[in-house]
Amino acid sequence: MDRRIYLASPHMSDEGYELEYIKEAFDTNWIAPLGANVDSFEKEFAEKIGAKHAAALVTGTAAIHMALKAAGVEEGDIVLCQDLTFAATANAIIYQNAIPVFVDSDYETWNMNPKALEEAFEKYPNAKAVLVVHLYGLSADMDRIVDICKRYQAVLIEDAAEALGTYYKGRHVGTIGDYGVFSFNGNKVITTSGGGMLVSDNEERIAKVRFWASQSREKARYYEHRELGYNYRMSNILAGIGRGQLKVLDKRLAKKKYIFEFYKRELDHLEGVKFMPINEWNEPNYWLTCIRLNDCYSGHSKGSGILPVDIIEALEKENIESRPLWKPMHLQPFFAGYDYIGENVSGNLFEKGLCLPSDTKMTDEDLSRVCRAIKRLWYS
Ligand SMILES: *Cc1c(COP(=O)(O)O)cnc(C)c1O
Repeated sequence: MDRRIYLASPHMSDEGYELEYIKEAFDTNWIAPLGANVDSFEKEFAEKIGAKHAAALVTGTAAIHMALKAAGVEEGDIVLCQDLTFAATANAIIYQNAIPVFVDSDYETWNMNPKALEEAFEKYPNAKAVLVVHLYGLSADMDRIVDICKRYQAVLIEDAAEALGTYYKGRHVGTIGDYGVFSFNGNKVITTSGGGMLVSDNEERIAKVRFWASQSREKARYYEHRELGYNYRMSNILAGIGRGQLKVLDKRLAKKKYIFEFYKRELDHLEGVKFMPINEWNEPNYWLTCIRLNDCYSGHSKGSGILPVDIIEALEKENIESRPLWKPMHLQPFFAGYDYIGENVSGNLFEKGLCLPSDTKMTDEDLSRVCRAIKRLWYS
């Protein structure tokens, strides 16, 4: 069996930057809590993306939770949330005992449809916050979304967990709304094994998040607590990995784009295959190369349309990992009781969409292996 090809796996620097920072933490016995790596990682990360302030947290999910809390979202508040996303986005709304209302995507961005958002506000004019997602590193249509949020005086939170390195009209995503969230989970563009970052221009709110994330411990000689606290701060060891990874971010982004272009060259001509939408105002990070299948019949041995599951199974036989697009929240049993505004574009994307392996460790031969296995479905 050929070596397994992964969707996206951790890729530490060849130079060993991460180990140097970890060693520094060991040498000073600054293993926990917090410490120099955390402070520096926050600073270096904020500088890299052009954010004013950043708080390093245990996960991207924790960062979404803290963003909602910082936005003043409380029990019973409505949060308009992108429907097509990973459950972490919506779960954080439930952590605050708030009520998600799911908003459909459009085919132009795969992200929140501004028209559906407008409709959602007409139905829920008092919605407290909007949670937009930049899926697969594709930017949402931010000018229109920012404009709508301003008109309804709602706080705008960007879930940019998958979008480190993505620019919208020259601005890094996550720095356009009021709060931006990033993830360093194992399969993201860079990783700390697990981790997240919350960014904002609002220094006071970021300081407050650091306070909540440290058990809301007041400055007193004894342990004094006036507010509910969380244990959400990133460890000094993991922040060291993050500092090292940040040094190779540009290299990883270049490889991601190379992978996308390789697939596009090899697969774009296959009947029914459409690549993820890239707009002239969008400079994606190409975290995962995704495609959508129109109804394609030609050349298929079974004489019926090729579905994403056919490709997933064909690739799996060759020891290659791939997966469908996110299953939208309005189709998840857990969220079935919440309102959904839209026309099931998200459901159609889920049904017809596919993420191709986009691991930055892949060689040209690996990429060719994937393409050969896919083309065989069309030409057999
Ligand atoms: C990965 C991801 C998250 C959660 O990040 P974690 O660090 O795994 O908690 C949130 N939203 C989206 C869209 C993600 O892909």
